[in-house]
Amino acid sequence: MPIYEYRCEGCQTKFELLRSFSRADEPAECPTCRAVGARRLISAFACFSKSDGGATTAVGGGGCSGCSAGSCASCGH
Ligand SMILES: [Zn+2]
Repeated sequence: MPIYEYRCEGCQTKFELLRSFSRADEPAECPTCRAVGARRLISAFACFSKSDGGATTAVGGGGCSGCSAGSCASCGH
């Protein structure tokens, strides 16, 4: 299951959640203030690290958390 990153709009806490792909965009509960309404952050690191030479730079075993699960919402891998 891919890991998604969320940020609480109330207290600005950032946290990660393991979620199924289909639930990735649902509001998440903040572990700090318990407010439900944290928004998913789009992770833009490993997914977009394709080098100029055409080779994909693997970080920690390949792609982002979505990529490693076989379906990445951020980069479409
Ligand atoms: Zn919060």
